[in-house]
Amino acid sequence: CISPFARVSGCDVQVPLVQGGTCTYANFDYAASAPALASVTDRISELLPFYASVHRGAGYASRISTTSYEDSRESVSRFVGADEDQVVVFTRNTTDSINLLAGAVPGDVVVLDIEHHANLLPWKNTRVVEAADSVSETVWRIAVELERAPAALLAITGASNVTGEVLPIAELADLAHACGARIFVDGAQLVPHRRVDLAELGVDYLAFSGHKLYAPFGAGVLVGRRDWLDEAEPYLAGGGAVREVALDHTEWACAPARHEAGSPNVLGVAAIAAACDTLASHDAEAAARHEELLCAQLVEGLRDIYGVEILRLWDDSTDCVGIVTFGIEGFEPGEIAAYLSAEHGIGVRDGRFCAHPLLARVGLPGGAVRASLGLGSSSADVDRLLAALRQLVADGPSWSYAKADGAWSP
Ligand code: PMP
Repeated sequence: CISPFARVSGCDVQVPLVQGGTCTYANFDYAASAPALASVTDRISELLPFYASVHRGAGYASRISTTSYEDSRESVSRFVGADEDQVVVFTRNTTDSINLLAGAVPGDVVVLDIEHHANLLPWKNTRVVEAADSVSETVWRIAVELERAPAALLAITGASNVTGEVLPIAELADLAHACGARIFVDGAQLVPHRRVDLAELGVDYLAFSGHKLYAPFGAGVLVGRRDWLDEAEPYLAGGGAVREVALDHTEWACAPARHEAGSPNVLGVAAIAAACDTLASHDAEAAARHEELLCAQLVEGLRDIYGVEILRLWDDSTDCVGIVTFGIEGFEPGEIAAYLSAEHGIGVRDGRFCAHPLLARVGLPGGAVRASLGLGSSSADVDRLLAALRQLVADGPSWSYAKADGAWSP
């Protein structure tokens, strides 16, 4: 795919249409999982012949795999601006990273009510703050809660997976630190869209997933301050996480090995590192500006369609990544998504996006439709989506989603 920023796979995939024939797939589902970058595919192909278990092998393939695995840690660390006090732990995904950190936090965790379930459910001793109608009021409410009683951690999303809205992370980091707490950022949606520099922002812990960062499924990252991670119970008990084992005593290793028991996902980790290296070499601001223009085109077009309501928590001046969630009066979200796929070859997502409390609070318990952008998105794709939605509103679907029993299979 010709994107001004990177070669992304899957942009020229042909998909079947319900009326017969095929068309080029238009992907508006980057927020769920992003297609692999060409550099990621190349890195995996290079490494595949040397597929071997890491660390304790003296064979050539094992040494290549070990070097790749540990170099990948360096790539990730550089990409997020981690300092020497911060350690990169490889996990399966963001959810895994948060569950790992949840076992290491020595106290209460303050969260907002708009979070993805992954940043709500794993925490113990949670104190939930209700987001307000403006960003500044929301920040103020968080400050009040942090001052009210000691908390160990403020756990906050970098960018909402429902609205794309971005929180002022540096300000929140200062606030948390002033109250004696640390800050964790759920970067699942932010990292693929913005350069996140931990040192610059003052962030203590960050998690993200390979599959949303143009790498395949199965590998994720937790990066953060070493002390809690060194003191925590090992996330997984087993080989690789220990220094010494006797039948009546175990001496655990420090982080990251402490939390990475078992044979690691060498290829998945190399893929994340390749994505980080590629994204680090790009002009992130230019990519963000490009995405902002596409997003504005999408929002403007949607606002011109009768019955469309765009879901935003805060006003239009709020910084946003390329995620636009909406509903259309008279249509079920599932019906809209199925229609776009079946009749126009357009992939969006519908539902409640693993953020049930947020959807309930904005009065959309039945869910909404989410269109999300990424490096392979184009203005032509946005036009295609808008034209399809205009046609839907004008004519209704030319086949019945309900009759298809809620499903359409190619
Ligand atoms: N946090 C946010 C904001 C997300 O969007 C997601 C994925 N939808 C997650 C966490 C969980 O990511 P994963 O499924 O890769 O663990």
